[in-house]
Amino acid sequence: MKGKIVIDKQMCKGCKYCVMSCPKGVIVIKEQFNERGYFTAHPEHMGKCTGCALCAQMCPELAIEVWAENNRKKKA
Ligand code: SF4
Ligand code: SF4
Repeated sequence: MKGKIVIDKQMCKGCKYCVMSCPKGVIVIKEQFNERGYFTAHPEHMGKCTGCALCAQMCPELAIEVWAENNRKKKA
């Protein structure tokens, strides 16, 4: 694993931009409501994550943190 992401499920609005932007197919939308009533994004296949941060750049809610393998945060 070269990277990992953390998704704040309460900030997520289920827009799928992260799902569509991830070149590795890491993220899926699960049918689990958050407190705002949205289905939310989950890093289902984390082992494929390269830490490229495309998902975080696309997220309109700034709900995704990206971490590099050395545990250094790459994106807010
Ligand atoms: S950091 Fe890159 S590889 Fe990892 S989940 Fe986000 S878009 Fe996919
Ligand atoms: S782009 Fe952000 S708000 Fe949209 S589904 Fe992904 S984490 Fe949720």
